Amino acid sequence: MNKDNNSLHVAVRALVEFIYQSGDLTSAIFSNLSGAEGTRLHQKVISLLEKEYPDNIVQSELQHHTIVEFEEFSLSVSGRSDAILFPRTPEDEDAYTIVEIKTHNRLYDKYEELYHEVHMAQAKAYAHLFLLENEALNQIRVQLRYYSANTLKSCHETIVLSRVELESFFNTTCKLYLETVKRRFDYIHARNRSIRGLEFPHLDMRDGQKQFMSETLSAAKQKNILLVQAPTGIGKTIGVLYPAVKSLPHQWFDKVLYLTAKISTRASASKALNQMRESGLFIRSIVLSAKESMCPCPDIYCEPSKCKYALGYYDRQKEALAELLLTDALDAGIVKVVADKHVVCPHELSLDASESTDIIIGDYSHAFHPRIRLDRYMTEAEFPHFILVDEAHNLVDRSREMYSASLSRNHFIAFKFIVSGLNPRVEGHVSDIIEYFSCLEAHLIDNDPAFPYIEPAVDNKNVMITDNFRATTTPPKILYASLWRMCFHLAPLLDRLPETYDAKAIRNLFFEARFFLTILEYHYDSSYIYTAKRLISAKKDDAPDDFILTLACLDASSKIAKTILDRHSAVFFSATLSPMQYYRFMFVGNDHDYTNELILHSPFPAENFAVGVYTKLSTAFKEREWTKSAIADIIEALSHKNGHYLVFFPSFRYMDMVHRIVESRTRPSEARIIVQTPEMSADGKASFMGEFERFDDRPLIAFAIMGGHFGEGIDLIGDRLNGVIIVGAGLPQISPERQILLQYFQEKFSDGFAFAYRFPGWEKVLQASGRVIRDESDVGFALLIDHRYDKNEYRSLFPEHWQFQTLDSTQDVLDFIEKQ
Ligand code: SF4
Repeated sequence: MNKDNNSLHVAVRALVEFIYQSGDLTSAIFSNLSGAEGTRLHQKVISLLEKEYPDNIVQSELQHHTIVEFEEFSLSVSGRSDAILFPRTPEDEDAYTIVEIKTHNRLYDKYEELYHEVHMAQAKAYAHLFLLENEALNQIRVQLRYYSANTLKSCHETIVLSRVELESFFNTTCKLYLETVKRRFDYIHARNRSIRGLEFPHLDMRDGQKQFMSETLSAAKQKNILLVQAPTGIGKTIGVLYPAVKSLPHQWFDKVLYLTAKISTRASASKALNQMRESGLFIRSIVLSAKESMCPCPDIYCEPSKCKYALGYYDRQKEALAELLLTDALDAGIVKVVADKHVVCPHELSLDASESTDIIIGDYSHAFHPRIRLDRYMTEAEFPHFILVDEAHNLVDRSREMYSASLSRNHFIAFKFIVSGLNPRVEGHVSDIIEYFSCLEAHLIDNDPAFPYIEPAVDNKNVMITDNFRATTTPPKILYASLWRMCFHLAPLLDRLPETYDAKAIRNLFFEARFFLTILEYHYDSSYIYTAKRLISAKKDDAPDDFILTLACLDASSKIAKTILDRHSAVFFSATLSPMQYYRFMFVGNDHDYTNELILHSPFPAENFAVGVYTKLSTAFKEREWTKSAIADIIEALSHKNGHYLVFFPSFRYMDMVHRIVESRTRPSEARIIVQTPEMSADGKASFMGEFERFDDRPLIAFAIMGGHFGEGIDLIGDRLNGVIIVGAGLPQISPERQILLQYFQEKFSDGFAFAYRFPGWEKVLQASGRVIRDESDVGFALLIDHRYDKNEYRSLFPEHWQFQTLDSTQDVLDFIEKQ
């Protein structure tokens, strides 16, 4: 919904859904098609229509728009019709047909079972808009057509409606809509008034913050992409949200989507909004949570026959929404209480409520995940949004994960038992897939390229071979065919599975397989690789051995760019976007000239942060045995100083080697030593952090992992943390997957090592060193130990505000620590 003083803008789909949607939340019939799949199917359907109506010209995706005036309000309505059949002779008035297309998952096609009033209402709305644009026509054929996504068979109904009938239908719909959403005008007026009077909520504006806000404002206005490196202390959350809020009355975009990688960062965004509320801002916002965390009945699945919160959802949704929207700052807790009272699905209610808010705080996946993203804002977007990506450095790995898909052999073996007796074809295809896994594994154990034996399109020369791992750029056609057939026969059964079957497990694997197909069909390109990997458990109580097939996305920048460019504006910001060029390539690629960059300097006095660089000790894997004792000597020096220290390592194994030595040499009376463990529980993490709140006569030496839980996102102000020692350059461990990234970026940018190892490692070093100075009065040090730091490619990455000293001997290092 877009808004002016007394005008609203609404998409046709949202308009008719608001008025005519009724009954149950969803069923498996219409719910399995992602935006990309829907688009591809739509193209196929259009060509079928062309064959069926050779006497007509079929035009699809035509844009329509009108403005309806009602009392002192006006409603601007727009949308794209699926298809219009034009007669080859324009005078043939009876031959104009509006076609509304819906695709479903069933094999068969009984129109009465598929029909929903809201679908026909959408067709009628487009028919009316079309007649407004074609004054000579007095009537039109309105066709609602259901296509099976599996068979592409269709059923339909066609009715003929006159101009008068359609006008009456459309005006009544708009009137009903406006009457219901009138309150929204009051909200918008009050919101805009409060925004115009809103002052920046802090007395002083920090250095760089003003520039950040001004660039954010211009990105919003010009529909640009802005990358900002904003060090700790700039006040980046309020710095980006304040101009975003101030922009709302200008209508450059509809909503602000504030996206984070972690739940804790969402709290900072809510806090910044609340600070503005305390300064007089009146605005509605919502923090979205994952479906799993909101669902009151996680053991069942989203099917009206199983879930009382889905059954008749739309019959109770409006009342629940009205109650919910009495609150300005919505979150999962509030939504759950109201949803429970009205017996509606809390997750769906939160999404529906988000349509009436201006600020949506959520996860990266809400905008970028090909399956989870909010179609209502991203795929079917009628209006641009302003996307704010916090701690954006995390998006590099997250975007790769979001666009990758994996299948586990163990899941299919378990699935075979679960579907036993359900359908012979499904069972047959599941057996074929298990056989596929077995054949690949057998060849892989035999140490041959493996893929060509089962995927004839794969060339021996095009297979990367390492222990228990194979990779090829050729997509798996044989696997695709078996998976597709399995899904084809399984999909129609999903909404009527016999009670004796574990419906949730069946659906889970179906969606896993469907996602794999979606990645293959719509996303697999030169940025992908197909891999097979044997997972062998190291210990008895580990997860059992498995065999994993993965469509691994090496670089999702073109996908992110496609989501944003030409549609939305965006700000990607973080304390560590260095080097900026690397992140630009990783976020949106290098082909766009409407990306702006801003590097801000730390607002804190540079002299408060001492940086020592010691390059005489190697931390390379093969040298660690020789250098561990010397590194332990340096860490041990901390036990003779007061204060709290974090010592970061690139891996648990390495940390363990050094930690053992330090602990064996340090008496408990000399220092408190704590250490991060793998798979640390929430209580364990809290107790680790709790040690920094305790002050006694002994220094605290905390061992932790770079890039791990304590490597970023923790705030230890003042004497809670006095310094860090960073052992190594943070390079990711060498693995076949990393080596593939190296090769990919070598071909793309001629500097594979930098993109696959150096830059991701440097991000962790910067994050770890960034734990020390958290406010203007903080004083502390960072000591970097690694032989690579004397090289130019590293020195050029050091932030400008670092006044670092190069230390030439262990004695220099000990003196450096002593002086701090
Ligand atoms: S309440 Fe849970 S099971 Fe029911 S529809 Fe919502 S998410 Fe699905």
